[in-house]
Amino acid sequence: MCGVFGVYGHAEASNITYLGLHALQHRGQESAGIVASDGEALSSLRRMGLVQAGFSSADLAELRGAVAIGHVRYSTAGGSHLKNAQPFAVNYQGGAVAVAHNGNLTNHEPLRRELEAQGSIFQSGSDTEVIVHLLARSGGRSLEERVVEAMQRVEGAYSLLFMDERRLVALRDPMGFRPLCLGVLRLRAGDAVEGARTAYVVASESVAFELIGADLVRELEPGEMLVLDERGVTSSRPFEAAPRRSCVFEQVYFARPDGMVDGASVYEVRKRLGRRVFDEHPVPNATADDCVVVPVPDSGVPAAIGLANHARLPFEMGLIRSHYVGRTFIEPSQSIRHFGVKLKLSPNRAALEGKRIIVVDDSIVRGTTSRKLVGMLRGAGAREVHVRISSPPTAWPCFYGIDTPTRSELIAASHDVEEIRRYLQADSLGYLSLAGLLDAVRGAASPGDTEGAEPERRHCHACFSGDYPIPVGDLRTPRHRLEVLDG
Ligand code: AMP
Repeated sequence: MCGVFGVYGHAEASNITYLGLHALQHRGQESAGIVASDGEALSSLRRMGLVQAGFSSADLAELRGAVAIGHVRYSTAGGSHLKNAQPFAVNYQGGAVAVAHNGNLTNHEPLRRELEAQGSIFQSGSDTEVIVHLLARSGGRSLEERVVEAMQRVEGAYSLLFMDERRLVALRDPMGFRPLCLGVLRLRAGDAVEGARTAYVVASESVAFELIGADLVRELEPGEMLVLDERGVTSSRPFEAAPRRSCVFEQVYFARPDGMVDGASVYEVRKRLGRRVFDEHPVPNATADDCVVVPVPDSGVPAAIGLANHARLPFEMGLIRSHYVGRTFIEPSQSIRHFGVKLKLSPNRAALEGKRIIVVDDSIVRGTTSRKLVGMLRGAGAREVHVRISSPPTAWPCFYGIDTPTRSELIAASHDVEEIRRYLQADSLGYLSLAGLLDAVRGAASPGDTEGAEPERRHCHACFSGDYPIPVGDLRTPRHRLEVLDG
């Protein structure tokens, strides 16, 4: 998964981009990069690790100009190396261009083979580099013409930012898998470029605007392209329309809870998910005297609040999170990940001892986290542990930009709910149904039918249903059973 941010028309574009990336840090912690233009040439800096660690004020001072784009990354295609860090910036016969991508291209491998056969030399393992080569080969006269020509060859999920020396182009794929929104920043005299009163900003999530004091104008429509240049903002729809399929997992886990995605408050959606999972899977005879609701921080907190309010049960911080470790999920090896859960979360005996615990998390991927947590809660004196998950079983990998592992690693790909409960050693386990998830996300009362949903509320839920809106070949067959369960 990744985050993108861009600014057009601010004298300190790279500083603003740095702040924007900071607010999007949850979307990727492997690397960060910024490219800026002073109107003549692009300057670029990419670093491994967090935004704050990667960029000093001296670095930012080198990235001069009023146009900039930035990227935070964790890998979904290509390994965790500096050469794969974005934005990619290149010079070609038409000038200079930089690109930042959130998503995953589903046809990048055949395209890459084709381009290599024609002499292209790739420098990274990233799917995004295909776009750079297609841009460079395009016969288009302007950046936007080149973008349209290049992207006609490409399939998959993309929210993209491009820039050349003078303009910025933002593009969301026709199905709208990944979010992207436009904001406006009112300028003070010293920040203005050539007397302009506003600068424009584009970001994966609206939370990036809050930090820099910009106002959300709107989310980009699926398939929409914006050109930001001296004429202001020009919108067009260069590609054939497709059914909208924005990623439901953004609502469940990925997006920051204080933002808006698909026109909805992520926080309110997550509270509804918590309410709904308790309706579907109540804990019998739970009373406020002996039962407490405990979130897995941070991802389970809004759903746990929704569940606790709805069930009229006390909400307790029974797990305390260390804020000095990142997301354990992205640790590369399974052994480190095991250790990582303990590093990140510790049980709070005062809230747990002698209680029946309803522990709430947003998802189970491999099962590592939940299994450790159930053990920790029991070790700290919990009488019973009931696990509630505010999404359906994650049984299918994502090919559109979320870093879910292969099917062989997904516990729900090869085990039913009762088998998973036994593995977790929980007293009960309840997942939200797909119909419940879609209802809660849509804020609607009627169960189920995504086709019937309002167009802006239609989602991709392939990770839960295996229903892939863009073909992904034969990757859907379960092949392995998790060894860890059999042992
Ligand atoms: P696991 O231990 O593999 O079952 O991981 C489950 C935890 O990972 C849950 O607490 C989720 O909040 C979190 N999670 C789920 N999906 C992702 C993802 N794509 N990237 C990072 N963390 C995730």
